[in-house]
Amino acid sequence: MIVLKLLLLFVALPSFAQDLECNWTSGEKILKTEHIERLVQFTRNDPESRLVLDEAMHSFGINDTKELFQFIKICDSGNDHAGAAFPKFETYWNEIPSQEEVAEQIEEIKLKVLRDMRPNKRLVFWDEYRDFVSYTILNYSSICISADRSLIQAYGTFIHELKHIGKIDSAPHSKRFLDLYEGPKDYVNKNLLAPGGELEAYKAGFKAKIKASRSREHSQDGSATNYFAQLPYSVQTAFNENGELINQEELIKFILDEQGYRSKFENEYKEQLISLHNQVVQESNFIIRLHNSWVDYFNRTQKPEIKTRLNRLKAQHAENTKLKERYKERLANYWPELLQSEYSRVERPPEALARGGDASSSNGKAKKYDEVHTPEPTNRPKSHASIELSPRVEEGAQDSLYP
Ligand SMILES: [Zn+2]
Repeated sequence: MIVLKLLLLFVALPSFAQDLECNWTSGEKILKTEHIERLVQFTRNDPESRLVLDEAMHSFGINDTKELFQFIKICDSGNDHAGAAFPKFETYWNEIPSQEEVAEQIEEIKLKVLRDMRPNKRLVFWDEYRDFVSYTILNYSSICISADRSLIQAYGTFIHELKHIGKIDSAPHSKRFLDLYEGPKDYVNKNLLAPGGELEAYKAGFKAKIKASRSREHSQDGSATNYFAQLPYSVQTAFNENGELINQEELIKFILDEQGYRSKFENEYKEQLISLHNQVVQESNFIIRLHNSWVDYFNRTQKPEIKTRLNRLKAQHAENTKLKERYKERLANYWPELLQSEYSRVERPPEALARGGDASSSNGKAKKYDEVHTPEPTNRPKSHASIELSPRVEEGAQDSLYP
């Protein structure tokens, strides 16, 4: 086995020295382990890139580079983007059905969630309330590298995207997002400069390319190499020969203006506001259904602990209503047209909190806690995605509360 590994090493080594301009898959359109191995081999050769890879693998939750296979894809040629790692977030709500042994029930729900987690998913938020839990799952899709990229371009993209992935540690949280960013400008700046944000990703990707160009010169004895030839023209003077950034302003201008990230981020911010507003509406609808499903039971039994539960749910609903209004205000501040009727679409018929005491429950009995409620996922387009706008602000949860 060791002999075989050594043999493979010797077979593999010359490919590092091979032409960096050759196609990264040698023209093949179906991804093979050997294509990824090529990129990994480059990465391993540079301690800094290796660190980026390690962080990303940690984030993916994998130990073996062979498992990278499930996160990488070949994209069609002609695709504008060189690479893209689109993380997707989904939020779920589960009822805690019984008033007894609440901690045990929560534990059971969590265990089930973790047990059912696929390898490309990760639990990023877990919010416990007295009557339900809410949790968010991060769903990795793929690093996408165009079929027509050269080996060095693909390597640069690989490092760039890995840099993003290594720092993805949290989803946008509906209850914190509004306080986290003051507005679109703030969102642009913070996302640009965030750990694992575009600035760091571009820095890492370009540095890796420059260093790879240098290492080629050392491994071959050809004519003098232009280390910067692989970089876009406008940032070639932003780095030195060691790949260090010497003019950050130039790189930022490139990212925000030339690469269009200013408007991408602004659109992303709007998308986030819409999506998180809708998530609050979904949570309200969940709470309303939960509340209404307990009303019948309370009417029959008059149990005080059920009354307490109903009151808690009403309070939670009131909180959500306030939060929903704050989202609307923020949207109206920057994109007032979004909230005009021609743009809004009512996604669900309005639901109301049933009146404890007279109204009948419209939703029947309480749901079992192992039922998973699947709302619209909260998408977080990132990196090279062009953001498609869906100016759709969901209505649905009725504001009025009954005593
Ligand atoms: Zn990026």
